[in-house]
Amino acid sequence: MKIVVHTDQADQWQAALSEALPEATVLKSDAPAQERQGADYLAVWKAPGHLLAEQRALKGIINLGAGVDHLLASPERPADVPIVKLRDAGMGELMADYVLYGVLHFYRSMDRYSAQQPGAQWQPHEVVEKAQWPVGVLGLGAIGQAVASALDQAGFPVLGWSRSPKTLKNVRCLHGEAGLDELLGQVQSVVTILPDTPATRHILNAERLARLPKGGSVINPGRGGLIDEDALLEALGSGEQEGHLRGALLDVFSEEPLPAAHPLWQHPRVLITPHMAAPTPLADAIDQVISYLHAFEAGDAIATVNPSDGY
Ligand code: NDP
Repeated sequence: MKIVVHTDQADQWQAALSEALPEATVLKSDAPAQERQGADYLAVWKAPGHLLAEQRALKGIINLGAGVDHLLASPERPADVPIVKLRDAGMGELMADYVLYGVLHFYRSMDRYSAQQPGAQWQPHEVVEKAQWPVGVLGLGAIGQAVASALDQAGFPVLGWSRSPKTLKNVRCLHGEAGLDELLGQVQSVVTILPDTPATRHILNAERLARLPKGGSVINPGRGGLIDEDALLEALGSGEQEGHLRGALLDVFSEEPLPAAHPLWQHPRVLITPHMAAPTPLADAIDQVISYLHAFEAGDAIATVNPSDGY
């Protein structure tokens, strides 16, 4: 079996796969082109187009992350090769930590205290009961469910939204356009953990942001394309003047890295992180990758990515 690996952590993945599969040839994507030819599998994150285009005998592509938007958007992707993506694989816990931090940031008024500090303002803010701080989770997939569960365990009422109807313990699950409108009207903070697909692009547009209650907050560790960034800036207000929304914690952007001149960088009520919410933890993900390889080789049924759904 020949596997070509492309990720920021290619050395570590090469070592881990070689150890787990001693009979396999595991190459990094910077190996000579001749050696890379005829690979059975690509195990990749943000693969360059030439790596996808040059292969002729692929049995499968393993996406070393949860989001497949980059891979599906590549014109060089061989359309007939099945793709599998990582499901949770340790990312759920990391994402839950990130989202919990974001919700607490607004719930415990850390945004207000940060703004008060330069003026040496000693002004405590009321702490409302968690029951009065419902949180909406858009996207109830492998990672979204881990986030919803962590928020529930932390004591927040949780509303969730997905494409298909779901039943999850202690989560009010909604779907469809009406379900989204209902959710937005009821939550203090909304978290977007959806994939970037044609159907989810700018799902939080001006109209939907306006459905959030005055003083609502947005946490987006999903994908930049989920939010209309101009509409978000408008809803946040400018300078000292708070708009309809109170603030946002953003990990992902329509263009990454977020350009230095982008107004989001300078906005006083926006907290920016550089797409770091849930990097794939190799130690958790390796077993899943190995089981995908075994399943491909054995011809077992595998849940593959549906390119027409976009996730
Ligand atoms: P999954 O594919 O497991 O789940 C996706 C969820 O989104 C499902 O609940 C799905 O609904 C829902 N969904 C998809 N399309 C729609 C739609 N049109 N309307 C309503 N709901 C929809 O994904 P994960 O949970 O594993 O990951 C989610 C996303 O998180 C990734 O695609 C990626 O973009 C992002 N991510 C970001 C990271 C970071 O570091 N910032 C790290 C990891 C992931 P249904 O259940 O009905 O299919």
